[in-house]
Amino acid sequence: MFISMVVPPDDADHDDAIWFVVRNNELLVVVEEGRREVDVPGTVGVKGSVEHDEPHFLGMLAGRPVWAAGVPHDHAAPATPAPGGGHSYENLRGLWGRVPEPLYGLAGRAVQIVEWDRTHRFCGRCGEPTVLATPERARKCPRCSLLCFPRLAPATIMLVERGERGEECLLAWGRQFPMRMFSCLAGFVEPGESLEECVRREVKEEVGIELDEVTYFGSQPWPFPHQLMIGFTATWAGGELELDPVEIVEAGWFRADDLPPHPPAGMSIAGSLVESWKARQS
Ligand SMILES: [Zn+2]
Repeated sequence: MFISMVVPPDDADHDDAIWFVVRNNELLVVVEEGRREVDVPGTVGVKGSVEHDEPHFLGMLAGRPVWAAGVPHDHAAPATPAPGGGHSYENLRGLWGRVPEPLYGLAGRAVQIVEWDRTHRFCGRCGEPTVLATPERARKCPRCSLLCFPRLAPATIMLVERGERGEECLLAWGRQFPMRMFSCLAGFVEPGESLEECVRREVKEEVGIELDEVTYFGSQPWPFPHQLMIGFTATWAGGELELDPVEIVEAGWFRADDLPPHPPAGMSIAGSLVESWKARQS
């Protein structure tokens, strides 16, 4: 349904376009009082009323062109009423479940491309101002030819099982959660490392155990700010839990009928990993 492109096709009807206007990690949305769902503005709401950077073409969604454009961090939402409500900037994370898919996924893409574009204005090697290198999604240095593509940080996330039927799963309360919330372990992939090596290293570092099988589960873009989460299931091979106190507050093996507070299914791959494991227990 969505076709990713860098250059708009000749016959695209830009009056019918969808616009993602990005202010830091926020999006311009159309809100209606008393309604939780929001809309993304179309061309009518943006053209002439929002002064933005050079826009990026993202592609075609069901025949409609999709554009993303950045605005300065102090940009005020247009005071003019939009068709169906008023304008406001809202945080990308807070928009989950309020903008239907595939728009939410595209919003994450828009925020990341605009952020990359705004933070790669100068060459990291020689300092020269860079230019867009269309038709690639890249910025190029005209002096030394260095190419910079949108940045992605791959991170693995894993649910470790133990027991004959995998009836116990390992969940941990990480320091990044202010509330007592148990989730899967996760960590960034290091240069030169395979995803499976990353899974084994993270688990060893954070809770001190060894793994047997490591199996791919699925992946999810996580645009906060630019991760790609790659999920795995794994089986415990040996070792007792020894927590890294810098990263982990508390961790344990849990049964499906006795789980601590954990992420819900839906928004995050952590939630899906736990739900999928629970479903296999019944
Ligand atoms: Zn350069």
